[in-house]
Amino acid sequence: MKSIYDYTQEQMIEEFKELGEKKFRATQVFEWLYRQNVQSFEQMNNLSLDLREKLSQIYQIGPMKIETKQVSQDGTIKYLLQLEDGGFIETVLMVHDYGRSLCVTSQLGCNMGCRFCASGLLKKQRNLTAGEMVNQVLTVMQDTQERISHVVVMGTGEPFDNYDAVMDFVRIINHPKGLAIGARHITISTCGLCHQIERYASEGIQSNLAISLHAPNNEIRDQLMPINKRYPMEQLRQSIENYIQQTNRRVTFEYILLKGVNDELKHARQLAHYIRGLNAYVNLIPYNAVDEHGYQQSDKGTVEAFKSELLRLKMNVTLRKEHGRDIDGACGQLRAMKVGEQHASHHEK
Ligand code: SAH
Repeated sequence: MKSIYDYTQEQMIEEFKELGEKKFRATQVFEWLYRQNVQSFEQMNNLSLDLREKLSQIYQIGPMKIETKQVSQDGTIKYLLQLEDGGFIETVLMVHDYGRSLCVTSQLGCNMGCRFCASGLLKKQRNLTAGEMVNQVLTVMQDTQERISHVVVMGTGEPFDNYDAVMDFVRIINHPKGLAIGARHITISTCGLCHQIERYASEGIQSNLAISLHAPNNEIRDQLMPINKRYPMEQLRQSIENYIQQTNRRVTFEYILLKGVNDELKHARQLAHYIRGLNAYVNLIPYNAVDEHGYQQSDKGTVEAFKSELLRLKMNVTLRKEHGRDIDGACGQLRAMKVGEQHASHHEK
């Protein structure tokens, strides 16, 4: 069954045309879904009964099934949600003083194979649809009865390996007649698919770009992230430079500190050298242990020294505050599960 959440407003107008319905009906439905937040066609009482009946036969509507929900000491909530085909995905709500931010999953599994990350332990089973991403936002808003003000596409999956659906998703949640989540409050994170960075640059949208860099040179990045063989750091830098030139936007570099791997002062200097000249800042991320991988978190002192070295070199740098580590809801700890393969082993710790 198609999902009513799959459509941008423009696409919904097209879709309704094909159904033989007037354009303004599409706009009405769009507003019901995202302005009024209704969860059924019955509630759309400015549509005829016939139309409501017809829509409910064609489109899936309503929140996803919440399989489990874990609340962290810091208020972070990790949801395990069930997809229509039975698969499971995780999505994480973080509560900040500036609002509520949802970490959205873009694929069931991931093919990027980063050596340190839990999300790639299950190979990509399929892309999520735009509607499945939209519904993560709606389901959590419905469950918490609170507005989500920020979205980061940093859950399981590589968003630029599911480019079109992710861009539709961004347009749907950004639409002023809908959830109206500001583009500047939406961030897409990529491990560095250069061809898509180039496309993203010309979308004419103000959403943010984050790059999972995690290494100061090709030698280390090759070991950590297989994508670096396809798009080495020089090429990546060129794409980012083009992106910044075209969009005038500032880019975030994410850098996990891995003990004894990429956390020495000389690495900080190489990193600064790589970033110099770009309108960018570095977000240092403490590594979160993943049982299946052998990496360790850098010591506190090492992290501080690394940060100080970047500051000394006049880099913009922040240290990411971790959310929900006690519930395996922090960066790189999210996983997807196939049909039938529930989360037992993972959650019963
Ligand atoms: N595939 C995209 C979106 C995922 S974002 C990307 O790579 O950017 C998730 C972020 O968490 C990425 O920066 C990822 O590299 C990082 N990450 C992965 N495993 C981690 C771990 N164990 N601890 C901390 N960060 C991790």
